[in-house]
Amino acid sequence: MTDYRRLRVALLGAGAVGSQVASLLRRHGDELADRAGAHLELVGIAVRNPDAPRETDLPRELFTTDAEQLITGADIVIELMGGIEPARAHLLHAINSGADVVTANKALLATHGPEIFEAADQVGAQVYYEAAAAGAIPIIRPLRDSLAGDRVQRIMGIVNGTTNYILDRMDSEGAEFADVLADAQRLGYAEADPTADIEGFDAAQKAAILASLAFHTTVPLDAVHREGITGVDKAMMDAARHAGYVIKLLAVCERLTESSEVRSTSSGVSRYASAPLLDNRTAYRDAISVRVYPALVRRDHPLASVRGANNAVFVQAEAAGNLMFYGAGAGGVQTASAVLGDVVSAARRHIAGGVGVGESTRANLPILPIDAVTTRYQITLEVDDQPGVLATVAGILSDGEVSIATVEQTVRSEPVPGNGGAGAEPASDTVARLVIGTHKAREANLSATVDRLAASGVVERVVSVLRVEGD
Ligand code: NAP
Repeated sequence: MTDYRRLRVALLGAGAVGSQVASLLRRHGDELADRAGAHLELVGIAVRNPDAPRETDLPRELFTTDAEQLITGADIVIELMGGIEPARAHLLHAINSGADVVTANKALLATHGPEIFEAADQVGAQVYYEAAAAGAIPIIRPLRDSLAGDRVQRIMGIVNGTTNYILDRMDSEGAEFADVLADAQRLGYAEADPTADIEGFDAAQKAAILASLAFHTTVPLDAVHREGITGVDKAMMDAARHAGYVIKLLAVCERLTESSEVRSTSSGVSRYASAPLLDNRTAYRDAISVRVYPALVRRDHPLASVRGANNAVFVQAEAAGNLMFYGAGAGGVQTASAVLGDVVSAARRHIAGGVGVGESTRANLPILPIDAVTTRYQITLEVDDQPGVLATVAGILSDGEVSIATVEQTVRSEPVPGNGGAGAEPASDTVARLVIGTHKAREANLSATVDRLAASGVVERVVSVLRVEGD
């Protein structure tokens, strides 16, 4: 074996991901040493309960409850505990003790990223976090390094496996949301408390991380517009399928350019200060929008073919064009692959020396509120089947500056309860369903227009309003 320098690696957490990282580090030690140019010595694993059963066979003497002591003297600290505290305090301690750090903790980075990056800058340490967005899929390094010479225009990501699994089964089996969610919980695809996934919190954290990297801007979590999938029902799925679409929970990170007066975007103080949030009326030249919501995606779009619990990130860059990154967005051993890639990078950097490369936040682009975003929409309405109704609906849309691209009308009969005596033909009402596709419209105009439609007297029910993304 080559006589490499030894680097001390401390692991915090040995759960689904940590236990696999520890096992792979030990099993593939020689190979990793050749790639890293250093022997990676796992010096200890901090957990809550050292005697808890683990997914992989690891020597009991590696375990400790004293994370602080383990961190002191380590060259590389891998944080796989999850949550905010004590993970945040441990990472700061590691950075201030001279270690490079690797983490998969999206919740921590989306909320305290600037503090951690700033601490690393102060001492010249490096923070690696490939596993914090889309698990095993290499997307952080492509955005940070491979596309550093390009200009990212847009990212559309399926970055939450649980919601993709649920929506995929609703689409392919015609199942209801609640039934698939219960199944997903039974099969381990969804947590007992599924809120973080189905309400879009997890996807929003990843969107903040991806947008920050792609647009060289610190995007705070509360600037990410977030809607979950709990409002998606079978009727919406059926309508989407009929119109040639599939519904996906998307994280959309977009750069928007308008030729009008530029507002100052300097927020002074720290290079990691959050980007300014624009209101709905402020003029801008370059701005960004970061949003998570269920959206219609054409069935021939590459994202439509992402099935089950898989993830994919579709990136559109000015020079590179369209790129798609696809694979497992979670799973202990899959995520461990991304973590170990970071560990090898950290080791190489440690051997080479020099200061770490901080996050690029120089663009500091302003962030648009959802009201100012423009997308295409599909509005599904149930209306009275009377002459003139279509003209009334079209007039309301036109007054609201929402331009119609397509309209499809279907008519069905509905029995009227209580009408039609014995022996008489049962009475029925005819209800028309209008599916209206719009050209690009401003969200504020669209939502005011939908309110006016709902109150118009000719609309019986607004069945759904969905954004159309990706075409
Ligand atoms: P997990 O299975 O819940 O494991 C957490 C580990 O951290 C456990 O070993 C636990 O110790 C230890 N721990 C938690 N709090 C601690 C504390 N206060 N002091 C000491 N040890 C503590 O978590 P995971 O699924 O491996 O996830 C780890 C990180 O990876 C999270 O940030 C997560 O978001 C991220 N991630 C996970 C996946 C995935 O598929 N699981 C995918 C991408 C990213 P005990 O074992 O003694 O309880």
